[in-house]
Amino acid sequence: MAASFTFFTNLWYYAVTSMVIPLHSGKQTLLNYLNPISRLGIRKYSFIFPLLCTVVVCVGLELFSTKILAKPTATGMYAIFVLLGTIIYFAFHDGIKGGLTATLPTVGYYIYIIVTRKYEGRQLVVALETTLILAIVYIFLAVIIGWLKQSLDRVIEQETVARMDAENGQLRLQTILNQLPVGVLLVDSKNLKIEANTQAELILGRRIRTDLKTLRKSKNHLSLKNAKPLDPQDWPIVRALHKGETIVSEQIEYIRKEDDVVSLRINAAPIRNRNKEIIAAVSIIDDITQEKELEKRKDDFVNMASHELKTPITSLKLYVESLFSQLKKSPDERGLKTVTGLKNQVERLHELVNELLDVSQIQTGKLHLKKEVFRLDELLAELVDTMQYSRPDSQIKLIGKTPLTVFGDKFRIYQVFINLLTNALKYSPTNKKVIVRYKKAGQRAIVTVQDFGIGIDKQQRKKIFERLYQVIPTSGKSYTGLGMGLYISQQIIKKHHGSIWVRSEKNKGSTFCFTLPLKKQPLRSNV
Ligand code: ADP
Repeated sequence: MAASFTFFTNLWYYAVTSMVIPLHSGKQTLLNYLNPISRLGIRKYSFIFPLLCTVVVCVGLELFSTKILAKPTATGMYAIFVLLGTIIYFAFHDGIKGGLTATLPTVGYYIYIIVTRKYEGRQLVVALETTLILAIVYIFLAVIIGWLKQSLDRVIEQETVARMDAENGQLRLQTILNQLPVGVLLVDSKNLKIEANTQAELILGRRIRTDLKTLRKSKNHLSLKNAKPLDPQDWPIVRALHKGETIVSEQIEYIRKEDDVVSLRINAAPIRNRNKEIIAAVSIIDDITQEKELEKRKDDFVNMASHELKTPITSLKLYVESLFSQLKKSPDERGLKTVTGLKNQVERLHELVNELLDVSQIQTGKLHLKKEVFRLDELLAELVDTMQYSRPDSQIKLIGKTPLTVFGDKFRIYQVFINLLTNALKYSPTNKKVIVRYKKAGQRAIVTVQDFGIGIDKQQRKKIFERLYQVIPTSGKSYTGLGMGLYISQQIIKKHHGSIWVRSEKNKGSTFCFTLPLKKQPLRSNV
């Protein structure tokens, strides 16, 4: 008796602790623990709790039928339903383990009833058969319901893990975005909700985490492009979202507050799903105000320095030229050689300062053209002759017959052509043959300068028109230069509404081409 008492108190202790520990650790309430629905997704299945509770139910049923109802033989009738409910509850609470654990004392209790009610003969057989059938039904129900509960738990757990992973991913992404030195905006195409990182709000000086419609309506900011107010329809992110445009390095001015205008460099792109439908758009905003100020100061300095240098160098050039003309007539060969070297260097210096001045004028938008109507074909012929004369080691051929009349800055076009011709000879160390062609193509004149020199590889071809870009030779001869000539030429041609490009093959040569719009009325020779 004492032993069975200790067994039951121990069991009770385990049942309570098996409930209390998850209650504390999982921060659940008792009601939550008892409610099988709120336990869905928790894959902790108790054995003690269903066992003890079912035993308590059986004892309760026994006491109820013998002491309160005083009809011990009628117990089976309601015990069937009460215990069926208990098994279903525990199968749903603790899975297959809970259902089967509850079935065990239930079947034991039925056997107890058969023994204590002293059934005999036919009654005993029926009672035993019923117990067997009920045991099978209970086990079947415990397994099916328990299996369903466990499957549900698994699905819910997977779902919870996936959701938590997504939430963690979102948090990680947000943290990374907030650490970026650039502003990032993301707009969803469905609800037009905007997400922004901290930097975006700092750059734009306002809270952005709203939706696009509200942002469009708000009047306390203004974007400008080329000093004109930018319609919200033309915001890069709106174009990316509605038109699917990819915007690369677009520069706008943004009035953050009164007297606080910042320069922004904006990239934007649509985000598409597998069916290529736009689901969102992302925009990267970079505050380049300081960068631009620094660049402006640099340009101002180059402009000022080249202006300051130009006057003494021009005088120097004149002095050297006069010295050269005097020495040319004298028998002093050494002196003449020295002055020739000096003259070449001063000319080179003069060219460099002029290029620097041109670049700074282009940068500050001060490169002005003095346009006039002239014959391009005649200008080309004259320049080819002069070049051929000054470079007797070269072989420059001119092909073209059509008279070409253009309206442009003759000096600047001359500059472009001389630059292409000088480059063609400079970058052809062994073969000094150059072919210049010109022709009419529709309303345009096309001029090509072909050499058979070192050529330019594909990667470099895109970059050679950039400011200060020079191809660094990986082997062999190195060439002097600052990488400004082609940049200046491209800007001049652009200002004339023409275009300039290159076709080239490494070690085979290059062909530089440029076009200029033709003047409709042809002129007579005026070069
Ligand atoms: P640079 O003063 O260096 O010649 P440019 O702007 O005129 O500057 O040319 C830029 C670069 O393009 C050069 O460094 C050179 O590598 C390449 N390049 C220009 N013309 C030719 C050519 N005809 N053949 C091969 N490379 C050329």
